[in-house]
Amino acid sequence: LVQAVDVHKHFGAQHVLRGIDLEVRAGEVVVILGPSGSGKSTFLRCINHLETMDRGHIQVGGEQIGYALHGERLLRVSGRELARQRRRVGMVFQQFNLYPHMTALENVIEAPVGVHGVPREQARRQGLALLERVGLRDKADAFPAQLSGGQQQRVAIARALAIEPELILFDEPTSALDPELVGEVLATMRALADQGLTMIVVTHEIGFAREAADRVVFMDGGVVVESGPPDEVLGRPRHPRTQAFLSRFI
Ligand code: ATP
Ligand code: MG
Repeated sequence: LVQAVDVHKHFGAQHVLRGIDLEVRAGEVVVILGPSGSGKSTFLRCINHLETMDRGHIQVGGEQIGYALHGERLLRVSGRELARQRRRVGMVFQQFNLYPHMTALENVIEAPVGVHGVPREQARRQGLALLERVGLRDKADAFPAQLSGGQQQRVAIARALAIEPELILFDEPTSALDPELVGEVLATMRALADQGLTMIVVTHEIGFAREAADRVVFMDGGVVVESGPPDEVLGRPRHPRTQAFLSRFI
């Protein structure tokens, strides 16, 4: 479903991504681990064209988000076409980024109604079903300020699901939460993984990686250092940099 080949990115003189290769099959859950500044967020942002790349390409379902082939040449697409392409990919951030003046349900249906033209009544029905799926059906009319951090993040997950994406990207979804709220969000993500959703998850939650990931990718210095099944990468890391990183969690 996702195919990243030789992705490079500079910020000024800083070479942040130095040739990332990654393939994700439909239904796969890939967890990306790595130290701060290794380029994890930048890579996720390149996938849905929140960030441009300098070299290489990333295809999602056969197309590169932000671009289209015109004959032999890959050209930038219009804003409208970009919105259509981005519907393939949902994203959940560390900061939940909910609209504070909208209820939980309004947050969930904002993109389907506002961007993708889904009729409001249909979007409401689907939105309530999604809130049910993240265990928050009874909070549909609550505003973000009336919800705990964990509940807000679950609304953000429902919102990401509302565009019916083929892939969801999570960027440290539990890092901003109080420790006692982390579990409910991980449980929600775990359920989605079990339902066959394709997910790329940047997290420091090693337990989630061990239990939910099909594959663990360790990034450092803008490259993929090591990648494989969780029991291999987490249990018997081969690369010294992976070993050093993991030793901090034990
Ligand atoms: P963390 O675990 O702290 O979230 P990360 O692996 O997600 O780290 P990135 O956020 O991708 O790392 O950042 C990689 C490097 O790129 C860092 O050195 C960062 O300072 C730099 N960087 C990221 N975004 C920008 C930007 N918009 N402009 C300039 N430099 C940036
Ligand atoms: Mg980051």
